[in-house]
Amino acid sequence: MNDCLFCKIINREIPSQIVYEDESVIAFKDLHPVAPVHILIVPKHHAEDLLHLASDPAGATVAAGVLQAVPQVAAAAGVAANGFRLINNCGRDGGQTIRHVHFHLIGGRSFGEKLL
Ligand code: 5GP
Ligand code: ZN
Repeated sequence: MNDCLFCKIINREIPSQIVYEDESVIAFKDLHPVAPVHILIVPKHHAEDLLHLASDPAGATVAAGVLQAVPQVAAAAGVAANGFRLINNCGRDGGQTIRHVHFHLIGGRSFGEKLL
């Protein structure tokens, strides 16, 4: 996946502000934060989006790695106590712009607006 921005960040070809990393996940600060805390949790395994990940033989293992990383990232970002939102944008109508599955962890303020 030579052309993938997030694979390049994972491979340290592009710099980022990494806040957490383990064997299956990397988490770094979003370049254009929408909240005081805005971190991208990115599986190291390349899948284009959540649907591709779900149909990937490695998908369940990769998803478990993301789940296990969430409390670590929340603690590292200082939002474990007050809470946060975890968002995945999938595909065109979901507003996904980077075609490597990832999750936005946003917090540090209250989100009064609720979509659902
Ligand atoms: P999406 O729109 O695909 O759900 O989320 C992509 C996110 O990646 C956006 O919030 C955008 O600000 C962020 N982003 C795009 N390019 C870079 C980059 O080079 N470095 C970092 N840290 N974030 C990026
Ligand atoms: Zn990738």
